[in-house]
Amino acid sequence: MSARAITILGATGSIGRSTLDLVGRQPDRYRCLALTAHSNVDELAAAARRFRPELAVVADERHYGALKDALAGTGIEAAAGAEAVTAAAALPADWVMAAIVGAAGLQPTLAAVRRGATVAIANKEALVCAGDIVTKAANDAGSRLLPVDSEHNAIYQVFDAERPERVSRVILTASGGPFRTFTLGQMQAVTPEQAVAHPVWSMGAKISVDSATLMNKGLEVIEAHHLFPVTPDQLEVLVHPQSVVHSLVEYVDGSVLAQLGTPDMRTPIAYTLAWPDRVATPCRRLDLAAIGQLSFEAPDTARFPALNLAWSALRAGAGAPAVLNAANEVAVQAFLDRRIGFLDIAAIVAEVLSRLGAPAVDDLGAVMAADQEARRVAAMLIEARRN
Ligand code: NAD
Ligand code: MG
Repeated sequence: MSARAITILGATGSIGRSTLDLVGRQPDRYRCLALTAHSNVDELAAAARRFRPELAVVADERHYGALKDALAGTGIEAAAGAEAVTAAAALPADWVMAAIVGAAGLQPTLAAVRRGATVAIANKEALVCAGDIVTKAANDAGSRLLPVDSEHNAIYQVFDAERPERVSRVILTASGGPFRTFTLGQMQAVTPEQAVAHPVWSMGAKISVDSATLMNKGLEVIEAHHLFPVTPDQLEVLVHPQSVVHSLVEYVDGSVLAQLGTPDMRTPIAYTLAWPDRVATPCRRLDLAAIGQLSFEAPDTARFPALNLAWSALRAGAGAPAVLNAANEVAVQAFLDRRIGFLDIAAIVAEVLSRLGAPAVDDLGAVMAADQEARRVAAMLIEARRN
């Protein structure tokens, strides 16, 4: 069997690294075409020297010289800039990992989809802000979207896509994040360090903060709506602190099918890498006797208002999810930079949503415009809070 050509967008991130870890365990099976990163040239160059892609791209153009120098003599082409990332995504890879964080991943993810690649999609923000556009492009180009997000990967494994009318409910599990048992008063004073220290999963900073506010679960509800033929009313969220049951699908007869596993993203990533086959992974095996008990609880939307914001953006439709996502990205960054408090994140997203509503987003240009406008209003509200 000839090696499969693969590209990793966001190769230096948490998902990107886990993907390279798996690829490195089966070097004969895969051939790297392109690796991309935002600004971490040292890590990108080290990965490029090890995995020998044809092209390495750094999105931040200021790092072009450093990347070129680091790859001198290797024969690996260096490029820089957002357009170069999108061009890398459009190279003829058989499989593309879309693991850029945020709406910044939308154009590159779309480029891979439009070229008809099998796209392992971790970049949930792309689906949240432009789900209709991405899924239509996938249908038009014959591109298969394989969800990497552990919940959606679980659903993908147990959802009868051929007979979706037999599905009655899809239940997304949520760990509840580091502040699951905190009062609102306690949450008022939490630091970025506390927010990114997730009790179960090790992830990038942005998704870790999203997990702490439960916005992550809200984004995932919207993501699920685009990936599976279910109405918003058929989607539910269930808090499950151990993160062993990754999600559940209920059928009309009352049967509930779930996918379980230890919380290690290499399991869902390996599923997408091997699909429709399966490959062995080094992930710790699930030992339910050792775990002893699994617990479940309803999410508390009073302490975690971000969840309802996402539900209302999904119901409002049009550009509301893009507005929600962009406002959240700006607010999360402001929290990480210590410019606002933890509870301000959801408050700012709520205010931006109430000001901008659900603008029409018939094409990509309109999505980008809604995204930009939401970023502008969020930044303005953050400034106003600080004065
Ligand atoms: P991360 O912050 O660790 O990595 C992000 C990657 O994107 C890095 O390689 C970075 O260089 C690149 N990047 C950032 N901004 C960019 C830009 N403007 N242009 C080009 N590249 C850019 O994030 P992560 O935790 O790996 O998450 C990546 C995506 O996967 C997110 O959408 C996240 O929601 C999703 N996801 C992650 C996990 C997880 O366990 N980490 C689980 C489920 C879903
Ligand atoms: Mg998830």
